[in-house]
Amino acid sequence: MGRDAKIKAERHLRKFMGGMRTPVEEWRFRVLRGAKCQQCQTAPAIGQLLQFYPASDFQRRFPRLALQYATEGGGTIRTVKFKVYRDKDHWETREFVSMPVVHYCAGCKKVVSAWAARAPSTMVAEFREGPDNGQSKISVQVRGLAGGAQA
Ligand SMILES: [Zn+2]
Repeated sequence: MGRDAKIKAERHLRKFMGGMRTPVEEWRFRVLRGAKCQQCQTAPAIGQLLQFYPASDFQRRFPRLALQYATEGGGTIRTVKFKVYRDKDHWETREFVSMPVVHYCAGCKKVVSAWAARAPSTMVAEFREGPDNGQSKISVQVRGLAGGAQA
């Protein structure tokens, strides 16, 4: 790290530790970037819902989104891999496509959670609310398979 960068980093740290922003505020500033809630369209977002759909079925289920992603990706759709719990001591890696991120406010969190719970059972959903959240909670519902997912 160069001297200037170091000074900058220290200044930033002082500001942060000096109480200019809490870690959660910092996370909201950096990750949410002033996004508004997509449910009520007015309140500032406090978190984001990430959703992942199985790549194997993505094109059939979301043809328009698949076309958009493929166009943006120069012909390919980016996927992420998750280890999905299958049964006792058995995890298997599966490919998923990430869906558009949904931002929500404190008031709409319940509505968005309920809405996410109604999503197809093969989707992986993750609610992110920054450092206060402890760790990112990943709830996974893979058809016929109980359990969780590991990123
Ligand atoms: Zn809202």
